[in-house]
Amino acid sequence: FIGVLVTALSACSGSRKGSGSSGNSSAQKGDLVSISLPEQYLARWPKEGGEIKKAIEKAGYKADVTFANGSTAQQSSDIENAVNKGAKVVIVCPIDGAAVGPAVEKARDAGAKVISYDRLIMNTKAVDYYATFQLVEVGKKQAQYIEYKLGLKDGAKGPFNIEVFAGSPDDNNAKYFFQGAWSVLQPYFESGVLKSPSGKVTKDFKEKDWQSIGIDGWKQQKAMDEMDARLTKYAGDVKLNAVLAPNDAVARGVIEAISGKFSETEWPFITGQDAEDASLSLINNGKQGSTIWKDTRELATKTAEITIELLKGNDPKTDDTMNNDIIDVPSFLLEPKLVTKEGEKDMPSSVSLAELVKSGYTTEDKIK
Ligand code: BGC
Repeated sequence: FIGVLVTALSACSGSRKGSGSSGNSSAQKGDLVSISLPEQYLARWPKEGGEIKKAIEKAGYKADVTFANGSTAQQSSDIENAVNKGAKVVIVCPIDGAAVGPAVEKARDAGAKVISYDRLIMNTKAVDYYATFQLVEVGKKQAQYIEYKLGLKDGAKGPFNIEVFAGSPDDNNAKYFFQGAWSVLQPYFESGVLKSPSGKVTKDFKEKDWQSIGIDGWKQQKAMDEMDARLTKYAGDVKLNAVLAPNDAVARGVIEAISGKFSETEWPFITGQDAEDASLSLINNGKQGSTIWKDTRELATKTAEITIELLKGNDPKTDDTMNNDIIDVPSFLLEPKLVTKEGEKDMPSSVSLAELVKSGYTTEDKIK
Protein backbone atom coordinates (compact mmCIF):
# COMPACT_ATOMS: atom_id res chain seq x y z
CA PHE A 1 0.00 0.00 0.00
CA ILE A 2 2.82 2.41 0.90
CA GLY A 3 4.44 1.70 -2.46
CA VAL A 4 1.22 2.55 -4.28
CA LEU A 5 0.85 5.72 -2.24
CA VAL A 6 4.40 6.86 -3.04
CA THR A 7 3.85 6.20 -6.75
CA ALA A 8 0.57 8.11 -6.67
CA LEU A 9 2.15 11.03 -4.84
CA SER A 10 5.09 11.30 -7.19
CA ALA A 11 2.84 11.02 -10.23
CA CYS A 12 0.78 13.82 -8.77
CA SER A 13 3.75 16.10 -8.13
CA GLY A 14 5.01 15.25 -11.63
CA SER A 15 1.83 16.40 -13.28
CA ARG A 16 1.77 19.56 -11.17
CA LYS A 17 5.23 20.43 -12.39
CA GLY A 18 4.18 19.94 -15.97
CA SER A 19 1.26 22.32 -15.88
CA GLY A 20 0.91 26.10 -16.08
CA SER A 21 4.18 27.99 -16.28
CA SER A 22 6.19 25.23 -14.63
CA GLY A 23 8.93 23.19 -16.25
CA ASN A 24 8.41 20.78 -19.11
CA SER A 25 8.20 17.47 -17.26
CA SER A 26 6.97 15.57 -20.30
CA ALA A 27 10.40 15.83 -21.95
CA GLN A 28 12.66 12.83 -22.31
CA LYS A 29 16.25 12.28 -23.32
CA GLY A 30 16.52 12.57 -27.10
CA ASP A 31 13.82 15.26 -27.27
CA LEU A 32 14.41 18.26 -29.48
CA VAL A 33 15.46 21.78 -28.51
CA SER A 34 15.50 24.41 -31.25
CA ILE A 35 17.69 27.49 -31.33
CA SER A 36 16.60 30.27 -33.70
CA LEU A 37 19.26 32.92 -34.31
CA PRO A 38 19.02 36.11 -36.40
CA GLU A 39 21.80 35.71 -38.97
CA GLN A 40 25.36 34.55 -39.49
CA TYR A 41 27.16 37.71 -40.59
CA LEU A 42 27.97 38.69 -37.02
CA ALA A 43 30.60 36.34 -35.65
CA ARG A 44 28.84 35.88 -32.33
CA TRP A 45 25.65 34.08 -33.46
CA PRO A 46 27.14 30.97 -35.15
CA LYS A 47 29.64 30.65 -32.33
CA GLU A 48 27.02 30.80 -29.60
CA GLY A 49 24.59 28.58 -31.52
CA GLY A 50 27.27 25.90 -31.61
CA GLU A 51 28.03 26.29 -27.91
CA ILE A 52 24.39 26.00 -26.79
CA LYS A 53 23.82 23.01 -29.07
CA LYS A 54 26.88 21.22 -27.73
CA ALA A 55 25.88 21.69 -24.08
CA ILE A 56 22.32 20.49 -24.72
CA GLU A 57 23.49 17.44 -26.66
CA LYS A 58 25.94 16.61 -23.90
CA ALA A 59 22.96 16.36 -21.55
CA GLY A 60 21.36 13.79 -23.88
CA TYR A 61 18.88 15.91 -25.85
CA LYS A 62 18.83 16.85 -29.54
CA ALA A 63 19.41 20.41 -30.68
CA ASP A 64 18.90 22.21 -34.00
CA VAL A 65 20.28 25.66 -34.80
CA THR A 66 18.73 27.85 -37.51
CA PHE A 67 19.83 31.27 -38.85
CA ALA A 68 17.17 33.52 -40.34
CA ASN A 69 19.45 35.57 -42.58
CA GLY A 70 18.08 38.82 -41.16
CA SER A 71 14.51 38.04 -42.32
CA THR A 72 11.68 38.18 -39.78
CA ALA A 73 9.49 35.99 -42.04
CA GLN A 74 12.25 33.39 -42.23
CA GLN A 75 12.65 33.45 -38.45
CA SER A 76 8.93 32.86 -37.86
CA SER A 77 8.94 29.92 -40.25
CA ASP A 78 12.12 28.53 -38.59
CA ILE A 79 10.28 28.54 -35.26
CA GLU A 80 7.12 27.02 -36.75
CA ASN A 81 9.16 24.22 -38.32
CA ALA A 82 10.73 23.51 -34.97
CA VAL A 83 7.30 23.28 -33.37
CA ASN A 84 6.15 20.90 -36.10
CA LYS A 85 9.16 18.71 -35.38
CA GLY A 86 8.03 18.58 -31.75
CA ALA A 87 10.61 20.88 -30.11
CA LYS A 88 10.13 20.91 -26.34
CA VAL A 89 12.05 24.14 -25.78
CA VAL A 90 12.55 26.91 -28.31
CA ILE A 91 15.38 29.36 -27.75
CA VAL A 92 14.93 32.51 -29.80
CA CYS A 93 17.12 35.54 -30.40
CA PRO A 94 14.64 37.69 -32.32
CA ILE A 95 15.56 39.91 -35.24
CA ASP A 96 12.53 42.00 -34.35
CA GLY A 97 11.30 41.52 -30.78
CA ALA A 98 7.64 42.04 -31.65
CA ALA A 99 7.47 40.29 -35.03
CA VAL A 100 8.31 36.91 -33.56
CA GLY A 101 5.29 36.96 -31.16
CA PRO A 102 2.81 34.84 -33.16
CA ALA A 103 5.43 32.13 -33.82
CA VAL A 104 6.39 31.74 -30.15
CA GLU A 105 2.70 31.73 -29.21
CA LYS A 106 2.29 28.72 -31.50
CA ALA A 107 5.24 27.09 -29.76
CA ARG A 108 3.65 27.70 -26.37
CA ASP A 109 0.28 26.38 -27.55
CA ALA A 110 2.05 23.21 -28.65
CA GLY A 111 3.40 22.83 -25.10
CA ALA A 112 6.96 24.07 -25.66
CA LYS A 113 8.84 26.41 -23.34
CA VAL A 114 10.18 29.62 -24.80
CA ILE A 115 13.50 31.19 -23.87
CA SER A 116 14.40 34.64 -25.17
CA TYR A 117 18.11 34.72 -25.93
CA ASP A 118 20.13 37.94 -25.73
CA ARG A 119 17.23 40.02 -27.14
CA LEU A 120 13.80 40.17 -25.54
CA ILE A 121 10.68 38.88 -27.29
CA MET A 122 8.18 41.72 -26.94
CA ASN A 123 4.42 42.11 -26.57
CA THR A 124 3.46 38.55 -25.73
CA LYS A 125 2.88 36.37 -22.70
CA ALA A 126 4.56 33.47 -24.47
CA VAL A 127 8.04 33.92 -22.99
CA ASP A 128 9.19 31.82 -20.04
CA TYR A 129 12.71 33.11 -19.48
CA TYR A 130 15.15 35.70 -20.77
CA ALA A 131 18.94 35.35 -20.64
CA THR A 132 21.09 38.34 -21.56
CA PHE A 133 23.68 40.82 -20.29
CA GLN A 134 22.89 43.97 -18.29
CA LEU A 135 21.85 45.99 -21.32
CA VAL A 136 21.76 49.52 -19.89
CA GLU A 137 25.15 48.87 -18.33
CA VAL A 138 26.62 48.07 -21.78
CA GLY A 139 25.72 51.55 -23.05
CA LYS A 140 26.89 53.19 -19.85
CA LYS A 141 30.26 51.55 -20.10
CA GLN A 142 30.67 52.66 -23.72
CA ALA A 143 29.94 56.27 -22.81
CA GLN A 144 31.99 56.17 -19.61
CA TYR A 145 34.98 55.15 -21.69
CA ILE A 146 34.55 58.34 -23.77
CA GLU A 147 33.96 60.40 -20.62
CA TYR A 148 37.15 59.01 -19.12
CA LYS A 149 39.36 59.40 -22.19
CA LEU A 150 38.27 62.99 -22.80
CA GLY A 151 38.83 63.82 -19.13
CA LEU A 152 35.25 65.05 -18.77
CA LYS A 153 34.93 63.92 -15.17
CA ASP A 154 38.09 65.84 -14.34
CA GLY A 155 36.45 68.97 -15.69
CA ALA A 156 37.82 69.17 -19.25
CA LYS A 157 35.68 71.78 -20.98
CA GLY A 158 36.41 71.01 -24.64
CA PRO A 159 34.26 71.59 -26.48
CA PHE A 160 34.79 68.13 -27.92
CA ASN A 161 33.38 66.82 -31.16
CA ILE A 162 31.57 63.52 -31.07
CA GLU A 163 29.38 61.49 -33.41
CA VAL A 164 26.69 59.38 -31.78
CA PHE A 165 25.14 56.27 -33.31
CA ALA A 166 22.53 53.81 -32.04
CA GLY A 167 21.88 50.18 -32.94
CA SER A 168 19.23 48.72 -35.22
CA PRO A 169 15.85 50.49 -34.78
CA ASP A 170 13.98 47.14 -34.64
CA ASP A 171 16.23 45.66 -31.92
CA ASN A 172 14.88 46.18 -28.42
CA ASN A 173 18.40 45.87 -26.99
CA ALA A 174 19.51 48.91 -28.94
CA LYS A 175 17.07 51.05 -26.97
CA TYR A 176 18.62 49.98 -23.66
CA PHE A 177 22.18 50.40 -24.91
CA PHE A 178 21.34 53.94 -25.98
CA GLN A 179 19.53 54.67 -22.72
CA GLY A 180 22.69 53.79 -20.79
CA ALA A 181 24.99 55.75 -23.08
CA TRP A 182 22.77 58.82 -23.24
CA SER A 183 22.44 58.95 -19.44
CA VAL A 184 26.19 59.61 -19.34
CA LEU A 185 26.54 61.83 -22.45
CA GLN A 186 23.42 63.97 -22.23
CA PRO A 187 24.64 66.33 -19.43
CA TYR A 188 27.78 67.10 -21.48
CA PHE A 189 25.67 67.97 -24.53
CA GLU A 190 23.50 70.08 -22.25
CA SER A 191 26.48 72.06 -20.96
CA GLY A 192 28.05 72.39 -24.42
CA VAL A 193 31.14 70.32 -23.60
CA LEU A 194 30.11 67.77 -26.26
CA LYS A 195 28.93 68.75 -29.72
CA SER A 196 28.25 66.76 -32.84
CA PRO A 197 29.63 68.50 -35.95
CA SER A 198 27.15 66.71 -38.23
CA GLY A 199 24.29 68.21 -36.21
CA LYS A 200 22.69 64.76 -35.86
CA VAL A 201 22.58 65.01 -32.08
CA THR A 202 22.08 68.33 -30.31
CA LYS A 203 21.57 69.26 -26.68
CA ASP A 204 17.83 68.98 -27.25
CA PHE A 205 18.07 65.40 -28.49
CA LYS A 206 15.65 63.10 -26.68
CA GLU A 207 16.39 59.53 -25.66
CA LYS A 208 13.08 58.38 -27.13
CA ASP A 209 14.30 59.48 -30.59
CA TRP A 210 17.23 57.02 -30.57
CA GLN A 211 15.89 55.21 -33.65
CA SER A 212 16.57 58.33 -35.75
CA ILE A 213 20.31 57.70 -35.30
CA GLY A 214 20.01 53.90 -35.49
CA ILE A 215 21.87 51.75 -38.02
CA ASP A 216 19.50 49.33 -39.79
CA GLY A 217 20.34 45.71 -39.12
CA TRP A 218 23.54 46.80 -37.34
CA LYS A 219 25.19 46.64 -40.76
CA GLN A 220 28.79 47.73 -41.16
CA GLN A 221 28.11 49.03 -44.69
CA LYS A 222 25.17 51.15 -43.47
CA ALA A 223 27.30 52.59 -40.69
CA MET A 224 29.99 53.50 -43.20
CA ASP A 225 27.46 55.19 -45.51
CA GLU A 226 25.98 57.11 -42.58
CA MET A 227 29.38 58.28 -41.36
CA ASP A 228 30.30 59.28 -44.93
CA ALA A 229 27.10 61.33 -45.11
CA ARG A 230 27.85 62.98 -41.77
CA LEU A 231 31.37 63.88 -42.87
CA THR A 232 29.97 65.90 -45.78
CA LYS A 233 28.58 68.29 -43.13
CA TYR A 234 32.06 68.94 -41.73
CA ALA A 235 33.12 72.41 -42.80
CA GLY A 236 36.86 73.12 -43.00
CA ASP A 237 39.36 71.54 -40.66
CA VAL A 238 36.99 69.96 -38.13
CA LYS A 239 38.44 67.51 -35.64
CA LEU A 240 36.61 64.49 -34.32
CA ASN A 241 37.36 63.52 -30.72
CA ALA A 242 35.05 60.58 -30.13
CA VAL A 243 32.48 58.27 -31.69
CA LEU A 244 29.83 56.38 -29.75
CA ALA A 245 29.44 53.24 -31.86
CA PRO A 246 26.97 50.79 -30.29
CA ASN A 247 28.72 47.63 -31.51
CA ASP A 248 31.84 46.45 -33.30
CA ALA A 249 30.24 46.19 -36.75
CA VAL A 250 29.12 49.82 -36.55
CA ALA A 251 32.56 50.82 -35.24
CA ARG A 252 34.25 49.14 -38.21
CA GLY A 253 31.95 50.95 -40.64
CA VAL A 254 32.84 54.26 -38.99
CA ILE A 255 36.54 53.44 -39.10
CA GLU A 256 36.33 52.64 -42.82
CA ALA A 257 34.59 55.97 -43.44
CA ILE A 258 37.12 58.08 -41.55
CA SER A 259 40.23 56.25 -42.73
CA GLY A 260 42.59 58.71 -44.36
CA LYS A 261 40.49 61.64 -43.13
CA PHE A 262 42.10 62.07 -39.71
CA SER A 263 45.75 61.64 -38.80
CA GLU A 264 46.94 59.10 -36.23
CA THR A 265 47.54 61.80 -33.64
CA GLU A 266 44.04 63.19 -34.14
CA TRP A 267 42.26 59.86 -34.25
CA PRO A 268 38.96 59.78 -32.25
CA PHE A 269 38.17 57.46 -29.33
CA ILE A 270 35.76 54.92 -30.81
CA THR A 271 33.63 52.51 -28.78
CA GLY A 272 32.19 49.13 -29.74
CA GLN A 273 30.56 46.00 -28.38
CA ASP A 274 31.01 42.22 -28.77
CA ALA A 275 34.79 41.88 -28.59
CA GLU A 276 34.84 40.46 -32.12
CA ASP A 277 38.27 39.40 -33.32
CA ALA A 278 38.22 41.90 -36.21
CA SER A 279 37.66 44.72 -33.72
CA LEU A 280 40.07 43.41 -31.09
CA SER A 281 42.65 43.58 -33.82
CA LEU A 282 41.67 47.21 -34.53
CA ILE A 283 42.05 47.91 -30.81
CA ASN A 284 45.47 46.29 -30.90
CA ASN A 285 46.39 48.60 -33.79
CA GLY A 286 45.01 51.76 -32.20
CA LYS A 287 42.06 52.31 -34.56
CA GLN A 288 39.24 51.34 -32.22
CA GLY A 289 39.53 52.51 -28.62
CA SER A 290 37.34 50.06 -26.75
CA THR A 291 34.76 47.35 -26.98
CA ILE A 292 32.40 45.71 -24.54
CA TRP A 293 33.08 42.13 -23.75
CA LYS A 294 30.01 40.06 -23.11
CA ASP A 295 31.43 36.65 -22.39
CA THR A 296 29.02 34.83 -24.65
CA ARG A 297 30.36 31.48 -23.44
CA GLU A 298 28.74 32.34 -20.10
CA LEU A 299 25.48 33.30 -21.80
CA ALA A 300 25.42 30.11 -23.87
CA THR A 301 26.18 27.98 -20.79
CA LYS A 302 23.54 29.74 -18.71
CA THR A 303 20.94 29.28 -21.46
CA ALA A 304 21.77 25.60 -21.83
CA GLU A 305 21.41 25.21 -18.04
CA ILE A 306 17.99 26.89 -18.04
CA THR A 307 16.92 24.68 -20.96
CA ILE A 308 18.03 21.46 -19.29
CA GLU A 309 16.29 22.43 -16.04
CA LEU A 310 13.06 23.07 -17.97
CA LEU A 311 13.39 19.74 -19.77
CA LYS A 312 13.74 18.04 -16.42
CA GLY A 313 10.54 19.68 -15.25
CA ASN A 314 12.13 22.25 -12.95
CA ASP A 315 11.72 26.02 -12.82
CA PRO A 316 15.06 27.84 -12.66
CA LYS A 317 14.97 30.61 -10.06
CA THR A 318 16.03 34.19 -10.68
CA ASP A 319 15.33 37.49 -8.91
CA ASP A 320 15.58 39.71 -11.98
CA THR A 321 12.86 40.48 -14.48
CA MET A 322 12.62 42.49 -17.70
CA ASN A 323 9.31 43.87 -18.91
CA ASN A 324 8.29 43.05 -22.49
CA ASP A 325 5.35 45.51 -22.50
CA ILE A 326 2.96 42.73 -21.42
CA ILE A 327 4.65 40.70 -18.67
CA ASP A 328 7.70 40.77 -16.43
CA VAL A 329 9.87 38.02 -17.86
CA PRO A 330 12.08 36.19 -15.33
CA SER A 331 15.57 37.16 -16.47
CA PHE A 332 19.21 36.21 -16.02
CA LEU A 333 21.37 39.31 -16.48
CA LEU A 334 25.11 38.74 -16.85
CA GLU A 335 27.86 41.29 -16.38
CA PRO A 336 29.48 43.09 -19.33
CA LYS A 337 33.10 44.30 -19.19
CA LEU A 338 35.00 47.13 -20.88
CA VAL A 339 37.99 46.12 -23.02
CA THR A 340 40.84 48.42 -24.02
CA LYS A 341 44.33 47.61 -25.27
CA GLU A 342 46.01 47.83 -21.88
CA GLY A 343 42.91 47.87 -19.63
CA GLU A 344 41.94 50.99 -17.63
CA LYS A 345 43.08 50.83 -14.00
CA ASP A 346 40.70 53.61 -12.99
CA MET A 347 37.61 52.15 -14.59
CA PRO A 348 35.48 49.43 -13.01
CA SER A 349 35.47 45.94 -14.56
CA SER A 350 37.86 46.79 -17.36
CA VAL A 351 40.11 44.20 -18.98
CA SER A 352 43.08 44.32 -21.34
CA LEU A 353 43.55 42.42 -24.59
CA ALA A 354 46.10 40.23 -22.83
CA GLU A 355 43.52 39.29 -20.18
CA LEU A 356 41.01 38.48 -22.88
CA VAL A 357 43.52 36.15 -24.51
CA LYS A 358 44.29 34.60 -21.13
CA SER A 359 40.60 33.86 -20.59
CA GLY A 360 40.64 31.75 -23.76
CA TYR A 361 37.99 33.94 -25.42
CA THR A 362 40.35 34.68 -28.30
CA THR A 363 43.97 34.08 -29.24
CA GLU A 364 46.93 36.38 -29.78
CA ASP A 365 47.15 35.21 -33.39
CA LYS A 366 43.58 36.15 -34.25
CA ILE A 367 43.87 39.71 -33.00
CA LYS A 368 47.30 40.73 -34.29
C1 BGC B 1 23.33 42.24 -29.40
C2 BGC B 1 24.72 42.75 -29.71
C3 BGC B 1 24.97 42.72 -31.20
C4 BGC B 1 23.82 43.29 -31.99
C5 BGC B 1 23.95 43.04 -33.46
C6 BGC B 1 22.35 43.03 -30.19
O1 BGC B 1 21.05 42.68 -29.89
O2 BGC B 1 23.07 42.34 -28.01
O3 BGC B 1 25.66 41.97 -29.03
O4 BGC B 1 26.11 43.44 -31.52
O5 BGC B 1 22.60 42.79 -31.54
O6 BGC B 1 23.79 41.71 -33.79
